[in-house]
Amino acid sequence: MILTAAVDWLTHSVGRSDIQDLAVAALEASYDSILITDADLDHPRIVYVNPAFCQMTGWGREEVLGKTPAILQGEETDRAVTQRLRRALEAGHEFEGRTINYRKDGQRFHIEWRTSPVRNHGGEVTHYLAIQRDITAQVRLLRRLQERADSDALTDLLNRDAGERALRAQIQKAGESEQPLSIVLLDIDHFKPINDEHGHGMGDLVLERIGRLITQRLNRQDFGMRWGGEEFMLVLLDTALEEAGLAAEAFRKLIATTGFHDEIRVTASFGVAQWRPGEDVDALFDRADAALYEAKRDGRDRVCLADR
Ligand code: GH3
Ligand code: MG
Ligand code: MG
Repeated sequence: MILTAAVDWLTHSVGRSDIQDLAVAALEASYDSILITDADLDHPRIVYVNPAFCQMTGWGREEVLGKTPAILQGEETDRAVTQRLRRALEAGHEFEGRTINYRKDGQRFHIEWRTSPVRNHGGEVTHYLAIQRDITAQVRLLRRLQERADSDALTDLLNRDAGERALRAQIQKAGESEQPLSIVLLDIDHFKPINDEHGHGMGDLVLERIGRLITQRLNRQDFGMRWGGEEFMLVLLDTALEEAGLAAEAFRKLIATTGFHDEIRVTASFGVAQWRPGEDVDALFDRADAALYEAKRDGRDRVCLADR
């Protein structure tokens, strides 16, 4: 029996009379939060929590004894994880997972935790031991890094990689819901002379400002990305070609009438295309790009629509 062997070994190394004290002291000293319940899966009752648990959750020891660990759960606790926990324990397995828990005062935190069945000398499960660690700081950091990896540093719009991914996901949805989707591609006219005459830094400020105009004027559901140097793409959901053309026209006017730093004025040319069922991102882009080329060729500062 594993437990017997462990007891024998500890008896040998620390002496029988000290085993209990050592075991409790170790639980108490643990940096990770420890919670022990009885083995009743329908109404598990807490029989022990350590000081780290109290610190992490804000609950006092006497308050939680006899209660169910469900006091830690709330609206955003992942039910799929809780169900997976239940299934694992029913099968006598250990469980490992991540979820959102709640402090006594209602504050959310992210945890990583393992629950293990505790067996007696006869091998029977008598308790469950849950060891939890607060990983809120890591989750936040990861999210911030992800946002940074997805966004364009200059304009704060999505970068091309993240934007293309989002567009692909929306195309898939549009296919399923049979709702129209259109893209607007825009390229600033004669931007090179702006850099040449006012300096690259001023060119950057213009791009940054255009990014902000896009963010401010887009409908909430839509999104924009920096496609490349001074080219941007807008993705308009539930929007057919004509309506997208009107939106592009509004952006055209807005950019043409905005005074940038140093009284710089710029215009932009626009190509608009509505997604065709079955079409991939590259083909959709190519049609919008051809329309944009047409707008450039026809004199710039204008909107051209690709055939439906
Ligand atoms: P047009 O589009 O009207 O044909 O003329 P253009 O002068 O805008 O030509 P094009 O689109 O081919 O060139 C884009 C220029 O934009 C080249 C480069 O100097 C500038 N550019 C690209 N990326 C950046 C950037 O991040 N910052 C700045 N300041 N300039 C950039
Ligand atoms: Mg240009
Ligand atoms: Mg360009």
